[in-house]
Amino acid sequence: MLVTLSAAALVGVDAKPVSVEVRVGRGIHFTLGGLAGSTVRESHTRIRSAIEVSGYRWPGRGITVNLAPADLPKEGAAYDLPLALGILAASGQLPAASLHGTLFAGELALNGDLRAVRGALAMATSLPELLHTMLLPEDSAVEAALSGGPNIYGAASLSAVVGHLTGSAPLERTHNPIADQTICDAHSDKEATASLAAVRGQQGALRALEVAAAGGHHLLMIGSPGVGKTLIARGASSLMPPMSAVEMLEVNRIHSVHRQATGELKFGRPFRSLHHSTTLTTLIGGGRDPRPGEVSLAHLGVLFLDELGEWQPHILNALRQPIESGSVNVARSLATVDFPAEFQLIAACNPCPCGYHGHKHHPCDCSLHKISTYRKRFSGPLLDRIDIQVQLQPVPAEAMDPKIASTPVSERQARVWAARKIQQRRNPGGRPNGRLKPAELHKYAALSKARRVFLLEAMELYQFSARSHDRILCLARTIADLAGRLNIVDGDIAEAIQYRRSEHV
Ligand SMILES: [Zn+2]
Repeated sequence: MLVTLSAAALVGVDAKPVSVEVRVGRGIHFTLGGLAGSTVRESHTRIRSAIEVSGYRWPGRGITVNLAPADLPKEGAAYDLPLALGILAASGQLPAASLHGTLFAGELALNGDLRAVRGALAMATSLPELLHTMLLPEDSAVEAALSGGPNIYGAASLSAVVGHLTGSAPLERTHNPIADQTICDAHSDKEATASLAAVRGQQGALRALEVAAAGGHHLLMIGSPGVGKTLIARGASSLMPPMSAVEMLEVNRIHSVHRQATGELKFGRPFRSLHHSTTLTTLIGGGRDPRPGEVSLAHLGVLFLDELGEWQPHILNALRQPIESGSVNVARSLATVDFPAEFQLIAACNPCPCGYHGHKHHPCDCSLHKISTYRKRFSGPLLDRIDIQVQLQPVPAEAMDPKIASTPVSERQARVWAARKIQQRRNPGGRPNGRLKPAELHKYAALSKARRVFLLEAMELYQFSARSHDRILCLARTIADLAGRLNIVDGDIAEAIQYRRSEHV
């Protein structure tokens, strides 16, 4: 008897349908065909044990399994459940008709329990129309239900699945955990807010962070150790508006194919903090069975690179593609996979190798040559794409007094969110100013004649490049949006120029 069931294979953040064909016939063998990876090939022991421990009969005859289409690589243990059900149906222990129209995925433990699988949300969002139901391990079902997909059921074990399919013990449908937008709002990142609230002094850097968050501009903080760069970076996502339900779906889809699923969902914007020892594959993504890298895990959130001066130039250069296009292209054996990677880059570095160049009280012992070599490591193409650069000075002791009132985080949040709303309404595709194309910029950040003269004079004075001209225009647009101004004024341009000046230090 031949039984066919539906499963899925992950390709990037999408899933492709896989047809599982099981036949029980003569002989005593277990044959698996169809470009199955090693974990799939090892499934035999797990499935046999799960079937027997759960009180069903192992057919003990020739079992032939085929996974189609044959040219699609199939990795992971998610095929355990469809294979076990196929064997039960092909040996007459389960009605084959009960398997139609449902997508199955789940790893089986030797005792018959179901374990979560990778990419359940990706499977749910790319479910073909013919399949109206998904049957998954419990934790994976919670994740898949985020898709708002039609009928999603979670089961704890193989026997619970069989009970549901035969109608003897029907399972409850799993509900979408964020059906209500207020839940998204309530889950905004409290840790980030606390981090920002803990920053003392550093009004200039906090203002720069506010401008960066308002327009989706990348930010570089240059300062000696201990001035608060990490605290400020960690707080960045608290200024960004809470994720919409659509954004939450996008973010969780990526995280779902990255890790072994735990049913743990991300409600706050991602914050990924990276050390300079990060490898190219970890940063960009890849591997035989390609997984998203840190640039994709930071999608719609913050990517923080600490100690920029210590990074290998070739790794920093790899950031150019995602910064330009908002996605990364990862090559694999049979095809290439695109992962979304639209992040806000926040970088921090010391002013020189010893860390104290320009410090008021601590001498720097680096030679000018050493400083210039250090800066060259991260200057050039990457630095050119970082709109805002700020220098941070140590905070004087008197300014560290917690009694001194600083601008409340909620006040900065309110300004940023209002500025984002203006951009959503005005800019094509609702994109933030930082992602406007040059032609769009000239339309939406148009200057009056007097303002143009003012900017051109500054260009000459500071020897800015044509690219810098556009970035200043873009920043000035964001600064005006933060103030709720329709037209850009001289003060907006002056502030924007100040954020580009440290490139000439
Ligand atoms: Zn130094």
